[in-house]
Amino acid sequence: MECIVPCRVACFTLVVGVFGLASEVDAQTVADIAARGACSTAGLEGISRQLADSQTCMRPGQFVRFAPHPRISLSSSRVHPYLQASARDAIHRVADGGTNLTINSAFRTVADQYVLYHSGGCGLAATPGNSNHQSGRAVDVGSYSSVRSALEGAGCAWLGSRDPVHFDCPGSDLRSDAVLTFQRLWNANNPGDRIAEDGAYGPQTESRLGRTPASGFADDLCAPTCEAHCEGDTIVDAECGRGECGAFGATCADDSLGVRCVSVFCPAMGEADVCLDETQRAHCSDGALAEPTECAGGTTCAGEGECIMESMPGVDMGPAADAGIGPADDGSTRDASVGVDSGSLTGPGFDTATGGCSCRVDGPPNADGLWLLAAFALLAFRRRRLR
Ligand SMILES: [Zn+2]
Repeated sequence: MECIVPCRVACFTLVVGVFGLASEVDAQTVADIAARGACSTAGLEGISRQLADSQTCMRPGQFVRFAPHPRISLSSSRVHPYLQASARDAIHRVADGGTNLTINSAFRTVADQYVLYHSGGCGLAATPGNSNHQSGRAVDVGSYSSVRSALEGAGCAWLGSRDPVHFDCPGSDLRSDAVLTFQRLWNANNPGDRIAEDGAYGPQTESRLGRTPASGFADDLCAPTCEAHCEGDTIVDAECGRGECGAFGATCADDSLGVRCVSVFCPAMGEADVCLDETQRAHCSDGALAEPTECAGGTTCAGEGECIMESMPGVDMGPAADAGIGPADDGSTRDASVGVDSGSLTGPGFDTATGGCSCRVDGPPNADGLWLLAAFALLAFRRRRLR
């Protein structure tokens, strides 16, 4: 175990160090992006995605994806394809009815809204936290005149000529949650400058939002979540951490026992004793390799992880010598490299000839087998989240 932890700490430190360096170089703030005066959220991708992810984490199920859909296209990769389910259902009814929709904007974070509001080039944009885009129930569409009647028919209200691309679809008022998400994220990253977590957009919140790094904060509001799975020999855990099973002589297994690293010496399931080489043996439990033990002097590991006496010159093993090996109980054939030759077999005849010793011998771990301990340690792999 001791040989694993320092390596992982070193890797962790290296990764954090690289990310930290990157964020220092990219020091643009949300206010800097707004000061360009362009009606665009380009450059805001980092904090915008972090806020959207944080709100999804804070309010699971509050928003649902409305794209991809064969008749819905997004005008930019910066469009968050999320709406309340009721709003999603409305625009899907329109699209399913044969109308192609181009969505220029749907859910917006308060950082998106800050930039649009303060850019000066966007015409009408509500103050951050006051737009129905923060509720995930508004959409801005392309070619609004050709899709207006279909959207209105699905329950989406046209805002009118002062903002003709904007439609408010069925849904509840969730605007304060978008503000609250920012307030919590700010406080998590600025414990010395906490602001009220009240979901209200006031001067305190606005000043912090302007000073927020456009690339996002170092810490997320909560850990990203993943469905644990294997990617080849790489294991990905529920916190989206990744580890290389293959680097420690293991493969990644995803079966009814879960996702885990399985030693190449072990069956993925069940109990087994195995030989690691000619002198070391270990116990396998559902793919996990226990601490290996060394066969005592004069014995070698053979068959199903047994330490047996080496052959003695001149002793006639007899035909019964074959009794000790062959196909294992599970029908698999043992690797020849860990087998033994016909002169060193255990079995009834051999036991009798040597005084009855078929010799299961437990010994201390061999220093040469430390990498196997590393493999053993890896089986309890639980990756720490990186940020
Ligand atoms: Zn709009």
